[in-house]
Amino acid sequence: FTSSSTRPGLHIIHIAAEMAPVAKVGGLGDVVTGLGKALQKKGHLVEIVLPKYDCMQYESIKDMKALDVVVESYFDGRLYKNKIWTGTVEGLPVYFIEPQHPGKFFGRGQLYGEHDDFKRFSFFSRVALELLLHAEKKPDIIHCHDWQTAFVAPLYWDLYVPKGLDSARICFTCHNFEYQGTAPASELTSCGLDAYHLNRPDRMQDNSANDRINSVKGAIVFSNIVTTVSPTYAQEVRTAQGGKGLHATINSHSKKFVGILNGIDTDAWNPASDNFLKVQYSASDIEGKLENKEALRRLLGLSSSEIRRPLVGCITRLVPQKGVHLIRHAIYRTLELGGQFVLLGSSPVPHIQREFEDIRNHFQNHEHARLVLKYDEALSHLIYAASDMLIIPSIFEPCGLTQMIAMRYGSIPIARKTGGLNDSVFDVDDDTIPDQFRNGFTFVTADEQGFNNALERAFNYYMNKAETWKELVQKDMSIDFSWDSSASQYEELYNRAVLRARTASRS
Ligand code: ADP
Repeated sequence: FTSSSTRPGLHIIHIAAEMAPVAKVGGLGDVVTGLGKALQKKGHLVEIVLPKYDCMQYESIKDMKALDVVVESYFDGRLYKNKIWTGTVEGLPVYFIEPQHPGKFFGRGQLYGEHDDFKRFSFFSRVALELLLHAEKKPDIIHCHDWQTAFVAPLYWDLYVPKGLDSARICFTCHNFEYQGTAPASELTSCGLDAYHLNRPDRMQDNSANDRINSVKGAIVFSNIVTTVSPTYAQEVRTAQGGKGLHATINSHSKKFVGILNGIDTDAWNPASDNFLKVQYSASDIEGKLENKEALRRLLGLSSSEIRRPLVGCITRLVPQKGVHLIRHAIYRTLELGGQFVLLGSSPVPHIQREFEDIRNHFQNHEHARLVLKYDEALSHLIYAASDMLIIPSIFEPCGLTQMIAMRYGSIPIARKTGGLNDSVFDVDDDTIPDQFRNGFTFVTADEQGFNNALERAFNYYMNKAETWKELVQKDMSIDFSWDSSASQYEELYNRAVLRARTASRS
């Protein structure tokens, strides 16, 4: 185990279900790695605890080895052994937990979407804390993420502080309030929590069903710091419309709640050094962007006859949140306007997946549209580089990373003004915003008319104001979306919480 003593910075341990690139479904994975790296660079000791999924990208883990320890953890009335692995991912030390449980919790070929997800992750949350206790870690901050590790907050105070793992303040980040981890109250008992005492309106009881508990609510109640991933989304979730049933809980804990805009990992997302690209390029030399456009067209069998035909990209999970009806509409509208469209997306929702498979088949041999319905990291990089515009017509968007990645690659975002999109995309034609901040095209109303307006304005600039467009591309590529400033905000929250704890323990 890594020693945690005698370091000047903080000792921060993230307990999470995702970490890019080894185990990533969406933005959460990017945040754990990006924030972790940024905090490490600032001199803090950062460690990560992850499940050891069978379907991880093992080639991205350095020096992976099994430790010569067995951590026993309670679940469903008995103790289960857990094998612990260590390795380094993107320079960050990671502990991987492999339960020796007959349920083969992390041997399912996918991260989520299993019938027993609640069991799998409440189990994981408990072993993660058991590991820290066993290893005699003395972290200053335990940072848990989303419902999967929200159990850490109540487990820490109810079970682990009494056992002596008591050095930490708990930070919980909710990356999306749509996913709250609810279950019948009795299921909480499996991981050793006291369902009877926790199933109360001021603790973990779901706000709309008094026989169910809500793990995200538990983390809001029992953490010292609660964050979400953009300032606008932090406001939205405090309203009945945006809070998905948790607005009252968030409002009664508003003093510890704040929205911090995510950054992106500017090493992993750097067109000047990106090995997935045909040609690397930078803001001062954007010619290479055209070569990537050609490469993508060839790869996908799209027409290359006109170099200046605008290429519109979309990279997304296909779920209602992302505005699937507008994405579908965008394909047709782009073609009508004389553009090309590339979609990279996959859906965990069977009827949406089927619907897009039909559209994919319809455009199978089309010279200007292609749908690739899978998760493909390498292809995503090429699409960001090749496309002239990227659409993000989300119904709600806690932060959104694709608009920032797109800008870094000189692809201009066309985004709906919601959540983190509202904090990062500013309309080129909006006179109320200082010129230097304007970087994309936005719309407010989540309907075809609203979207069309933004898309048509973008096409108009692209087709008729080539020089202005080029300047916009160069400007967007130069915006600083790194984790630096966001990580400083987390650092400040951590420091304040640690200081408060020390002051309280002295008095
Ligand atoms: P969310 O977390 O809701 O999925 P974000 O915009 O925060 O949305 O993060 C999405 C991340 O996942 C980005 O890094 C994006 O490039 C990536 N991504 C989404 N869909 C795919 C896909 N089909 N293939 C490759 N990468 C994808």
